[in-house]
Amino acid sequence: MISFDLPEKIKQELAMVGYVARDVMRPISRKYDEGEHERPQEYIDMMWPMLKEQNKAQLAKANGNGSAKPEKTGPNWAILRLIVMIEMLSWGDAGIYLCTPNGGLGGAAVEAVATPEQKARFMNRFAEGGPKWGAMAITEPMAGSDNSSMRTTAVLDPETNEWILNGEKVFITNGSLSLKESDGFCVVWATVDSQAGRAGIKSFVVEGRTPGVNIAKQEHKLGIRSSDTVALHFDNVRVPYDNVLGGAEVRKGGEGFKGAMKTFDASRPAVAASAVGIARAALEFARETLASEGVVVDYTKPKHKLTAVERDLIEMEAQYKASWLLTLRATAQMAYGESNRLEASMCKARAGAAVTWITQKAVELLGPLGYSREFLAEKWMRDAKINDIYEGTKQINLLIVARSILGYSRKELS
Ligand SMILES: Cc1cc2nc3c(=O)[nH]c(=O)nc-3n(C[C@H](O)[C@H](O)[C@H](O)COP(=O)(O)OP(=O)(O)OC[C@H]3O[C@@H](n4cnc5c(N)ncnc54)[C@H](O)[C@@H]3O)c2cc1C
Repeated sequence: MISFDLPEKIKQELAMVGYVARDVMRPISRKYDEGEHERPQEYIDMMWPMLKEQNKAQLAKANGNGSAKPEKTGPNWAILRLIVMIEMLSWGDAGIYLCTPNGGLGGAAVEAVATPEQKARFMNRFAEGGPKWGAMAITEPMAGSDNSSMRTTAVLDPETNEWILNGEKVFITNGSLSLKESDGFCVVWATVDSQAGRAGIKSFVVEGRTPGVNIAKQEHKLGIRSSDTVALHFDNVRVPYDNVLGGAEVRKGGEGFKGAMKTFDASRPAVAASAVGIARAALEFARETLASEGVVVDYTKPKHKLTAVERDLIEMEAQYKASWLLTLRATAQMAYGESNRLEASMCKARAGAAVTWITQKAVELLGPLGYSREFLAEKWMRDAKINDIYEGTKQINLLIVARSILGYSRKELS
């Protein structure tokens, strides 16, 4: 039997995060939804000391010089811990969760493809000083799902041995927090050869406050409104040669894109976990509110003897559980160092669709209580949809799943 039981220490940390989700995030949820792009400082102040300590311990372990015992054989618990925490924080508030000061998607990209020297150089900052953020910038006005048509360029200046980045990125989560408001970093995808398609694409670390980076616009959004989402302009942004992520094979050859794609193996289960957290929030609220009106599912009855509302609640529970189990499976594979490319796309597509449906159903079942801004159900419905869009839309992830199962190439099934 597969056990998803967590070690006692992680359970305790999760209980602490549960407290933050319930007692810190929920009470400010509406305030930061309405004050779009306003920074949730009380949440940041609460999370940063805890995350900084966790990062410090993790780095010490990775470097083998900390007091922590060396990792025995078994899963990388840090990966599982991250996923269960994302679920819990998103149950609290998915928009505020996205403002968590940490490596975020940028950190995931570094962890997935950087050399040990780069990992130390870019990740150590999350274990010291004040709060900072990481971000990742792939999407452009004319290139999202189809990132081979990316136009942002990186040209090597032979005199200074620096890369010069020029271009525009849109809808970048934590773009402003990572690049303008802290000494975090943003992993920017750019082409070194626009004729080469995907083979020319590599990822570059642009550090916070680098000259030439401009915030072109803050996006106004349907949901996750407290999250920092901006368009970025890169005007002759100079980054050191060693900031191209990956080893010698990436610098010399066309391995950059393949490496960068590895980031999604880690980031898709994280998005799925966030979706599951919102789904659980909506499901619990719907179940509790209906129970207070006397509508309680009788699991002992056959389905045809249940009311339509009871059948809906059972279907919501089933979709929620299936999404969470798929997410845990993709995460466990990663934690055991196995390939999870197929499962990462599967859980992301499944959880994005499920949370969209579950939150809409919650609003539907609750009627005016679901639609009213007095409660959070309508907000969860708006927050949910992004999980069906970023880190590859549902359609793109389903394509990846289909290609993988049927054995088709990108060219054969697009
Ligand atoms: C709030 C928010 C935050 C974001 N954060 C980030 C971030 O931090 N970093 C970043 O780089 N990007 C980010 N994005 C961008 C996001 O990842 C892209 O919007 C997404 O990948 C879709 O790409 P696109 O915008 O080019 O849409 P398109 O590719 O133009 O898609 C439009 C529609 O066409 C469908 N479609 C496209 N190609 C196919 C196909 N081959 N088969 C079937 N259907 C297809 C899509 O599924 C979609 O329904 C964010 C977006 C939002 C809204």
